[in-house]
Amino acid sequence: MHVDFELNAPDDLAGTLDLLAQGGAGVAALAGGTNLIVDMRAGRHRPQRVVALSRVQALRGIDCQGTPISIGGGTTVSDLLHAPGMASAAPSLVEAANCFAGQMVRNTATVAGNIACGSPAADLVPPLLSLDASVTLARKAGERSVPLEQYFQGYKKDVRRADELITRISWPRLPARSRNAFYKLARRSGDAITITGVAVTLCVENGLCAKARIALGAVAPVVMRAKKAEALLTGARLTPAIIGAAAREAAGECSPIDDIRASAQYRRHTVEVLTRRLVSQAWEALTQKEG
Ligand SMILES: Cc1cc2nc3c(=O)[nH]c(=O)nc-3n(C[C@H](O)[C@H](O)[C@H](O)COP(=O)(O)OP(=O)(O)OC[C@H]3O[C@@H](n4cnc5c(N)ncnc54)[C@H](O)[C@@H]3O)c2cc1C
Repeated sequence: MHVDFELNAPDDLAGTLDLLAQGGAGVAALAGGTNLIVDMRAGRHRPQRVVALSRVQALRGIDCQGTPISIGGGTTVSDLLHAPGMASAAPSLVEAANCFAGQMVRNTATVAGNIACGSPAADLVPPLLSLDASVTLARKAGERSVPLEQYFQGYKKDVRRADELITRISWPRLPARSRNAFYKLARRSGDAITITGVAVTLCVENGLCAKARIALGAVAPVVMRAKKAEALLTGARLTPAIIGAAAREAAGECSPIDDIRASAQYRRHTVEVLTRRLVSQAWEALTQKEG
């Protein structure tokens, strides 16, 4: 298909935000292009102007030592895998990066692009939700910070204005007594679209579960938190019965669909199994450490 558009490649963030401000609804930012170019070729997206982000240094940079931990929106999946300190700053994010696409896509696909594409199967989003991440949205008139939990409004709908860029993603440092993990269930271990993705964070204080986060991918119109399940765990000394009840609650909270990869029933079942598994493993590791 022949696609006509104007391409700009500004050198800095100010120039990029200027172009986005001028472009109105017909403008699209181009990061790794692993979604955008595919969509343009298929005619699903027809921007009149494409603004390439590849030269914008302000979108790069990873800070795993600071508080909060923060990464530029232009951080690639490969960057996540190679950044010193990332494995302890965000174990679930590194696990997601490890099963993300193949090497060529990992080298260009960015974290901001994964969030902005709005897919319920976007693999980096459940880990970031489980870490209580926020995104910084910048436009010519200024910037704002939005908790990722409030970012998605519905299937492929979000709070980002057309002239805003995701410049940074940040999250609080995990406490010492915490575990954070992600599991992607797919037809193959690499280069496959997620059937069910589950990310969990557990924090323990005084022998009780002080905080629980359960984020679910590919089982609702948006990546979601299973808040009723989290509430069952929070404040409790976890037992197999409590964990089992929370896992069933998580399965009840999601709203999966049937598609070519899996049935809704199978997705719901795997939410229960994976939630139980990840929470049990986290609790076991944390309480063994306490004892
Ligand atoms: C072969 C293949 C395998 C894949 N495998 C996976 C996988 O395993 N898991 C997975 O989750 N995804 C996968 N994807 C989808 C895709 O790679 C990811 O969603 C990727 O993270 C998109 O990032 P990008 O930088 O390429 O975004 P682009 O394609 O450049 O952009 C995607 C969207 O985000 C917008 N955007 C980009 N950067 C910004 C920014 N800074 N601020 C605001 N908006 C922005 C663009 O305008 C566009 O609307 C795969 C794609 C392909 C082609």
